[in-house]
Amino acid sequence: MSKVVSAQLSPIRITSKVSRQVLLFIGCLCFAACGDQAGQTDQAPNLVLILADDLGYADVGFNGCEDIPTPNIDRIAKEGVIFSNGYVTWAACGPSRAGMITGRYQDRFGFSRNPLFAPNDPNMGLPLSEQTLAEALQSAHYKSVAIGKWHLGAHPTQRPLERGFTDFFGFLTGGHRYFPEDWTLADEYEVASQYQAYRTKLLRNENRIEEEEYLTDALSREAAQYIDKYQEDPFFIYLAYNAPHAPLQASSKYLERFEHIENRKRKIYAAMVSSIDDGVGRVLDQLDSLGLSDNTLVVFLSDNGGPERVNASDNGPLRGQKGDLFEGGIRVPFAMRWTGKISAGTQYDQPISALDIFATIVAQNSGQVKLKHSIDGVNLLPYLSGEKTGVPHDQLFWRRHDQGKLAMRQGDLKFQTRDTSSFLFNLKNDLGEETDLVGQEPEKAQELRLAQEQWNSQMMDPVFMGLAFDSIYNVLHPDRFTRPESQ
Ligand code: CA
Repeated sequence: MSKVVSAQLSPIRITSKVSRQVLLFIGCLCFAACGDQAGQTDQAPNLVLILADDLGYADVGFNGCEDIPTPNIDRIAKEGVIFSNGYVTWAACGPSRAGMITGRYQDRFGFSRNPLFAPNDPNMGLPLSEQTLAEALQSAHYKSVAIGKWHLGAHPTQRPLERGFTDFFGFLTGGHRYFPEDWTLADEYEVASQYQAYRTKLLRNENRIEEEEYLTDALSREAAQYIDKYQEDPFFIYLAYNAPHAPLQASSKYLERFEHIENRKRKIYAAMVSSIDDGVGRVLDQLDSLGLSDNTLVVFLSDNGGPERVNASDNGPLRGQKGDLFEGGIRVPFAMRWTGKISAGTQYDQPISALDIFATIVAQNSGQVKLKHSIDGVNLLPYLSGEKTGVPHDQLFWRRHDQGKLAMRQGDLKFQTRDTSSFLFNLKNDLGEETDLVGQEPEKAQELRLAQEQWNSQMMDPVFMGLAFDSIYNVLHPDRFTRPESQ
């Protein structure tokens, strides 16, 4: 419980009316100063969305990590805002990404499971009825680049270039091995089972390529290069690292930094986090050197909580881990920077969601972007500037359909149900979700149960089989990895 959020950074907390007025005043000064700069403010802002994979809540410096220095990730936090209550929409990879990239609860369109790697299945991934952020930004003339892990469908109709992205560099499945010598499969049709897809060669757009760098370094390099390439356009860089997701593999350059860590698993994990941190530094330096930082929203978060037993991650004081609807599964390290727009050293403590990234960048392009659906996120900037008071979300919801689990957050309260069981926690004084209050507050529990059921009634059943159905799927689809005759 000692890892208190960002105590060492002495952030500005937006908690009082006075501080909001001060921030508003500072914001006005910034706006007046920035307005004098030529050109910059006329162009739509860029978005650099940096996603880590299976990173623990307490494994970044800005959330109190002591054994893994993350000075570059911390730069985003120090120069912008730390969200101490930042959530993703699911406790594992695929659905969390589907929610974030559409700005909608993924259960609305049945993306309620981690998809299988099934390159011949047009329904195994993000339904074409949905609009990705890259598609939404097309009408505002953004160049959008997906780098790293996709995990939203491997069928040719579901790949990044079909979903609004200008460029793609990475891999289609839910994970990948990290060293080039392991990438022995020429393409997706040489794969014979789910996890063999971790061994395919990388894709640049639609072409398989030879790559020589450690995977995380290659992804960072590409991000920096695409920022350079598209510096004259508004751009959206979606940098989806697969580190520090298993398999735990790190290069000696990073391992050498962690000789002080005795636990072997934690040592490799730390090296993988450090490789991301170097990459974040490369991206931030590139934005600085090109003079783009004032016009670029940079977001950093993890796609779900750390699976502590699998990769030796640490969710600190939070209960549970990846897969759980306890805080350890869904509350993640989350920070945002927009130089001149978001006051440096801010800490924001109200619950916010990965859904809000979509809404925030779209709001900067009002009039230019036509949304296909109503979205569930909100523009966070007015809350950070103090222009809007109150909370961005009265309620947030989560669902694990196959486990019969629902959860919701309302104010300080966290309510969870599993079939007929229910639990109520007050996170304000029980962050570890240890003391169930259902017996003490039955009326409140009933009120939240009804709200949860109302939300769930708007959601769809899953539209594809997930990881747990791997062997059944194979029986039903003997052509799962068969190369189509047209290729
Ligand atoms: Ca993940």
